[in-house]
Amino acid sequence: MPAAAAFRDSLLRHLTYSLGKAPENADITDWRIALSLAVRDRMVDPWFASARATQEGGHKRVYYLSMEFLIGRLLEDAVVNLGLLDVAADTMHELGLSLSDVLADEPDAALGNGGLGRLAACFLESLSTIGCPAVGYGIRYEHGLFKQSFRDGRQIESPEDWLQQDHAWEFERSGVSFDVGFGGDVVERGGHCVWRPDETVIAAAYDTPVVGWRGNWANTLRLWSAKPTTIFDLARFNRGEYAAAAEPETLARTITRVLYPDDSTDEGKRLRLKQEFFFTAASLRDILRRFGSEFDDLKQLPKKAAIQLNDTHPAIAGPELVRLLHDERGMSLDCAIKTAQATLNYTNHTLLPEALERWSEGLMRELLPRHMALIERIDDAHHQAYPSRTVSLVENGDVKMGELAFVMANRVNGVSALHTDLMKQTVFKDLHALHPERIVNETNGVTPRRWVLSANPRLSTLLAGRIGLGWVDDLQQLERIEPMVDDKAFRDQYAAAKRANKAGLSDWLRDTQDVSVDPDAMFDVQIKRIHEYKRQHLNILEAIALWQAIHDQPNADWTPRVKIFGGKAAPGYVFAKEIIYLINSVAKVLNSDPVTSKFLKVIYPPNYNVSLAEQLIPATDLSEQISTAGKEASGTGNMKFALNGALTVGTLDGANVEIRDLVGPENFFLFGMTAQEVVERRMIEDHAAQAIGADTRLARALDAIRSGAFSGGDRDTFASIVDNLSGPDYFLVCSDFTDYWRAQRDVDAAFRDRDAWMRMAMLNTARSGWLSSDRTIRGYMADIWKADAVHT
Ligand SMILES: *Cc1c(COP(=O)(O)O)cnc(C)c1O
Repeated sequence: MPAAAAFRDSLLRHLTYSLGKAPENADITDWRIALSLAVRDRMVDPWFASARATQEGGHKRVYYLSMEFLIGRLLEDAVVNLGLLDVAADTMHELGLSLSDVLADEPDAALGNGGLGRLAACFLESLSTIGCPAVGYGIRYEHGLFKQSFRDGRQIESPEDWLQQDHAWEFERSGVSFDVGFGGDVVERGGHCVWRPDETVIAAAYDTPVVGWRGNWANTLRLWSAKPTTIFDLARFNRGEYAAAAEPETLARTITRVLYPDDSTDEGKRLRLKQEFFFTAASLRDILRRFGSEFDDLKQLPKKAAIQLNDTHPAIAGPELVRLLHDERGMSLDCAIKTAQATLNYTNHTLLPEALERWSEGLMRELLPRHMALIERIDDAHHQAYPSRTVSLVENGDVKMGELAFVMANRVNGVSALHTDLMKQTVFKDLHALHPERIVNETNGVTPRRWVLSANPRLSTLLAGRIGLGWVDDLQQLERIEPMVDDKAFRDQYAAAKRANKAGLSDWLRDTQDVSVDPDAMFDVQIKRIHEYKRQHLNILEAIALWQAIHDQPNADWTPRVKIFGGKAAPGYVFAKEIIYLINSVAKVLNSDPVTSKFLKVIYPPNYNVSLAEQLIPATDLSEQISTAGKEASGTGNMKFALNGALTVGTLDGANVEIRDLVGPENFFLFGMTAQEVVERRMIEDHAAQAIGADTRLARALDAIRSGAFSGGDRDTFASIVDNLSGPDYFLVCSDFTDYWRAQRDVDAAFRDRDAWMRMAMLNTARSGWLSSDRTIRGYMADIWKADAVHT
């Protein structure tokens, strides 16, 4: 049977026999699931072959432990990597459907908050593309990140239901489960410590294959779901106490019910600590089980397994691995600590003090009594080895998870050059002095399969026509288009692809957001979590000042701009929600202003997620990366934009520094204070007042907000924002405003020479190949994991 016919046959079989649907009764979701199952079938053989090759060769495996995997939709990824795009499109067409409609029917798996979770998803795909044996471990949240809508401009959260429909990608592994305990006490038995938990839940495994580019290799994403040890209490049920009978089940399942909608404040939640221990403990048991099935000597663990902790969320892995090796397998404590240290590695993602996890000793002792005792032993051992008293794992009654992760790691990495330097100078200054070899840098990256090939088919086709497809898994090859920037015909084609992407986005904005925009205007985009350090309020202040300037001179030659915002605020982050309300309120006034709206519009589509990012980024001219210097660890949104030919207006923060070096300072709009200047500026007590006093535009923009220009005359509505900006202004919005305005006017001027702009955009694409997550993963493999690719 020809390939296309075989594929069609498989699809129809799944529709009929797996879903039990007749073609004439199938809706688009039925077709989508049948297609997913037909595609999934094609992943299984490479998946098994990969596992077999790893086992037979006795190869080292990488274990990536992450509380979040922001994977988004999976069908297109799988179709593209398996080379089935044309076959799938033709098959759907023959059946009277469009593949793009079917792809768009898939709900986003939003098992993460933002950059940290998306990084984990890009890494899994790169590990499979490279052919490095790996397992991603995380939590199978019943409800991922909340759905965002706006009511009268304010954020409304509603639960997200990605598991409502069949999740076609996973295999339930009923044979793989572990008991995970909490609480109880510790007793001595025959010289051993035995932890006797008083609560136990079952961690049940669900596997999703992750196939790499060209389908040669597939790794596993294993997510744990919490189940009760006893389903329900029959005695109570028989007495008619139905709700009470289901209680054990409800309690156990609570652990994997929801994703915490905030990764940047330590909420000190007991349930969150349970989630962290739950998935970490299950993953470690699974890792030791697999090791034990292939090898004998546990001291060899570091040779066969490299465990990466994505931030401190799984940092309890340190004491838990020591407990498993020492208490349960009889290794000496000293050897257990050393073995764990040689196996574990830790990625730091933030320097924000409020985001560094700390757990109270009391809660630790209550939920994890044995671990608390081991943390003290680890602390003692560290003090003995390094008699400096400057570092303690426990401080003011709190266990410091960053320090614990550091002390228990072979390598600790930052996620951009600047962030790694700042780690050495600030949070881990003392530990770095004791362990000068431990900290390394691995600048983040993004997978080009999703963020260029799939998201931007027009650009991909253009690239393929000129340099083939080698760039897809060797992104440095994009350099080969650099000489073509001088080719006017190529520049025009590049410009036409961008123009078509913008026209497509304009249609979508008209249909879904009820606003009309000119595709020839500059599309200026800031999409990311809403946070004060990311400074969406700096952006909207500039919009207000620009609106006022246009009013002053309505006949001047303004460069038309469409400012697009996207992003969710953590439900408990009041100030971030005020920023959302301000943006929507400003949008309402500006978009209906007959004088200015042809030059300036503000649009904020709700519910920013991976799929919306894929839609917006290829249509962007200007990427806003305007965090207070020293606060954004790396950013990965900035990388997706540069690759897709958006120019950046940005500060010297995170990976912006490296992006600017790559693309050339003349192709990047830099503004603002450096991280060092930020520290100095904060020492000036009235820095905000000084900045406002020195810039009438800024003063006027703030006055407009204060006087109620965006709140129907009400002066209180945005008082919290205005008071903050003119008072403490910790994130230095006012102090950076003047230079931001200057940079934005440079952007305007540059955009007016469309051909010169396109040249700069092309150079951004041509020079951004280094930003591939394949490069990042190769760095981890060489510097941290000492793991090799295995080719089948
Ligand atoms: C890439 C991405 C992020 C990270 O964006 P930053 O600008 O680096 O903060 C967050 N959310 C989604 C959905 C993404 O795709």
